[in-house]
Amino acid sequence: MKILIVEDEPSIAEVVSAYAKRDGYETVIASDGLKALEIFERDDIDLVILDLMLPKLNGEEVCRRIREKSSVPVIMLTAKSSESDVVEGLDSGANDYVSKPFSPRVLMARIRAQLRPKESRDNISSGTCADGRIEIDPERVEIRKDGTPIPVTKSEFLIFSTLVSRPIRTWSREEIIRTALGDDYDGFDRTIDTYIKNLRKKLAEPGHENGWIKTIYGFGYRFDDEK
Ligand code: CA
Repeated sequence: MKILIVEDEPSIAEVVSAYAKRDGYETVIASDGLKALEIFERDDIDLVILDLMLPKLNGEEVCRRIREKSSVPVIMLTAKSSESDVVEGLDSGANDYVSKPFSPRVLMARIRAQLRPKESRDNISSGTCADGRIEIDPERVEIRKDGTPIPVTKSEFLIFSTLVSRPIRTWSREEIIRTALGDDYDGFDRTIDTYIKNLRKKLAEPGHENGWIKTIYGFGYRFDDEK
């Protein structure tokens, strides 16, 4: 899971990044608003931590532009903490608000809360598949193979967990979108193919080149537990 940290104060960006990495996230830092949008377009970002007072483009505007195309969680982290600032921040589409000075541990807890899969969206239960070699861990939004965490994005996690939840079932792309990603997903059917391709790349090994995901031509995908 990758977190984009948008912060023009290097010492704060470093602290947040260090804590996030310690919790197992990948991080990327943007030091101004335009760079933030550039990185957001380029990378597969799972959550954004956003300072409000930024060079080039302020945080509210960055948040609005992200919202035009994505429902990724945004946590605002800022010294502006009057009631009207908080209201404006949340109005521009932020999911949560943490004011400076902040406790990094509290910030990490807020991040975990945002990244936890939504109850209504899925009933992903923890469990194992592939003869116990692959573990699904909804608490940490993590897939482990032979005990080693596989670096997946939240969307990839939700898609794989959905396939595993009904091992014999074949899922159409549309069903995968609806079940795994929810109604607020606004990509195309074929975007699923990209997620599947990435998952396969991450899970594949000799004998399981398809990463335990079988293509059913003309229909969709299913979890492939064949020996
Ligand atoms: Ca700032």
